[in-house]
Amino acid sequence: MAIADDDIERLRSTVSIVDVVGQFVSLRKVGRNWVGLCPFHAEKTPSFNVREETGRYKCFGCDQSGDVFTFVQQHEHLDFVGAVEFLAAKAGIQLTYTSSGQSRERARRKQLVEAMQAAVDWYHDRLLNDPAARPARDYLRGRGLHGDVARTFKLGWAPDEWDALAKGSGIDGELLRTTGLAFTNRGNRLQDALRARVLFPIFSDTGEAVAIGGRVLPGSADPAKYKNSPETPIYSKSKTLYGLNWAKAEIVTSAEVVVCEGYTDVIGFHRVGIARAVATCGTALTEDHVRLLKRYANRVVLAFDADAAGQGAAERFYEWEQKYQVQVAVARLPGGRDPGELAERDPESLVRSVSSAAPFMQFRLQRVYDGVTARTPEDRARLAERAMAVVNEHPDPDRRRIYAGEVAAEVGLPVADLARVAAQRTRRPTITAPARPASWRENAEFAAIATLAQEWDAIAGWLVEELFNDDTNRRAFLAMAAAGGSLDGAIEAADPDAREVLARAAVADLDVDPEAEARNLIAAAVRRELASRSGVTGVDLIREDRDARLHLEELGTVNAGAASAEWLLGWLHRRMEERSGGGV
Ligand SMILES: [Zn+2]
Repeated sequence: MAIADDDIERLRSTVSIVDVVGQFVSLRKVGRNWVGLCPFHAEKTPSFNVREETGRYKCFGCDQSGDVFTFVQQHEHLDFVGAVEFLAAKAGIQLTYTSSGQSRERARRKQLVEAMQAAVDWYHDRLLNDPAARPARDYLRGRGLHGDVARTFKLGWAPDEWDALAKGSGIDGELLRTTGLAFTNRGNRLQDALRARVLFPIFSDTGEAVAIGGRVLPGSADPAKYKNSPETPIYSKSKTLYGLNWAKAEIVTSAEVVVCEGYTDVIGFHRVGIARAVATCGTALTEDHVRLLKRYANRVVLAFDADAAGQGAAERFYEWEQKYQVQVAVARLPGGRDPGELAERDPESLVRSVSSAAPFMQFRLQRVYDGVTARTPEDRARLAERAMAVVNEHPDPDRRRIYAGEVAAEVGLPVADLARVAAQRTRRPTITAPARPASWRENAEFAAIATLAQEWDAIAGWLVEELFNDDTNRRAFLAMAAAGGSLDGAIEAADPDAREVLARAAVADLDVDPEAEARNLIAAAVRRELASRSGVTGVDLIREDRDARLHLEELGTVNAGAASAEWLLGWLHRRMEERSGGGV
C-alpha cells in the first residue's frame, strides 16, 4: 500500500459516488437509486444502478458492481492507487504516500509528466508572445486557428534555434532526454528535438501532457512535415489518442466517437461543434485504441479515407465489431477533403458527414455501386458479384444475409439467389444473369405486397406506409390496408397502376419468408431515413440515431430481430411525425 489508509477512508466518506458516476453517465433518480445506461456494456435501456447510502453501484445487465474506487478504476482504466489519486485530485485532498517501489514509479512518472507540461507551457508562451513567432501565428490564423483555439488546445511554437528549449525553459537535462524533448548531439551538447515548428501537445485521456507533435511551417526546407515525440515511459503511440482528454465528456454522453488522422482535424471538428473527435498519432487505428475507446462509446465513426485502408482493414474492423461490440461507421467527407479543411471551408458538410455516417459495410457497397448504371441482366449480375464479394468478407452469416437482401434490392436480382451466395460465402461469387429481365416488381417491396395479398396475417402487422419508397407500391399497399386485407376490395378501389401491381402480386410465386421480407423493407426504409438526416447534433437525437443503427444491425438476428423491427417501426414513425410537424 502506497497511500495511507486514513486518506483512503477520508476520501470514501467525502466523495459522493453519485457525483463521480454522474460525471460519466447521465443518471436519473428512481426511488432510492440513481439509474442510467451502463458505461461498461452496450445497452439501450438503463440497468446501471447507483446508491448513495451504500456507496455502491451495480449493473443488472452485465453484473459489474463495486464502490467508487472500482468504478474509477474500471472506467478510467487505472489501478487502485491511480483511482485514489484521481478522486483525491478532484476532492482537493492531499495524499500521504508511504514508501514502496510502486510509489517510486509513480513519483517518476509524475516527474516526467511535469517536465512535459513545463515544455508545453514554455512553447505555448513562445507562440503567444514571442515576436519571432509571427509567421507561425499567421499560418495558424490562415487555417482558421485563432488565439482562442491556440489557447484551448495549448498550441505552441518551437523557435528556429537548436537549443532554445534546453537553454531557456529551465527543465532538467535528464528529464528533457527521457521525455524525448531533447537529445545529446555529437558535440555532446543538449539539442532540442523540435525546431521551427507549430506544436500540438498530446495529453493522456486524463489530461496529463505526455508528448508533442510538431508540423513544419510552409516554406521550410525540412523534409519531415510532421515530427512527433518518440515512445517514452509516458507515451505509447498505439495506446494514445490525440484529443481524448477534451473529447471524453461528449463521447460518453453521445456514446459515439469520431476518429480522424490529424491534429488539425480534431480541432476542426471542435470548431464545428463536434467535440467527440480524436486522432491517432501517426499510426493506423490499433486494437489498443479500440479497447480504449470502447470504455466510452459503442460507435466509432471513421473520418478519413477508410477505403484506402482496403480489405485487410475491413477484416480487422469486423473482428473488432464482434469482439468489442462496437459499430464501425464511415463519414462521407465530400471531395476527398480532410476535416480540418472542411471545418474552414464548408462546416455544414462536415457536420453532415458525421450525422449521415454509414456502417463500414454499407460504405464499401456504396463504393461498388457508385457510378455504375447496370442496364442489362448481365450488368446486374456482374455488379452483384462485386457487391457480394464485399458482403462475403463479413464473418457473421446474419449480417451477410441482411446485406444480401440490400444488394438484391439495389441491383434488382431475386433476394433468394443472393442469400444463397451469402450462405456459401465464396470470395469470388459467380452469379448468372436472370433469364427474364428483373424489374422493380421483383424487389423486396413487391415481395412484401405479394405476401400481403396471399398471406395477409403473416406480414400485415409488420408493414407501414413509410416502408414503401416506390409510389405505385405504396398506393397498392394503401389499397390493401384500406380494404382490410381483402384482395378483391383492394383491386376494385386501386388506381390502374396500383391495380396492376396487385394483380401480379396475387399470382406471384411466393418463395419468401414473410417476416424476413418485412425486415428487409424496414432495413431499407431506416437506411433511407438515416441517410437523409443532416445536421443532427443534439445529444438525444444522436443517441436515438445511434440506437436506430444498432437495432438495424440486430434486425437479422434470430433473438433480437423481432424486437428491433418493432423499435425501428416506432422510430420511423416518430421521424415522419417530426417531419410533418416541421420540427427538427
Ligand atoms: Zn452493464
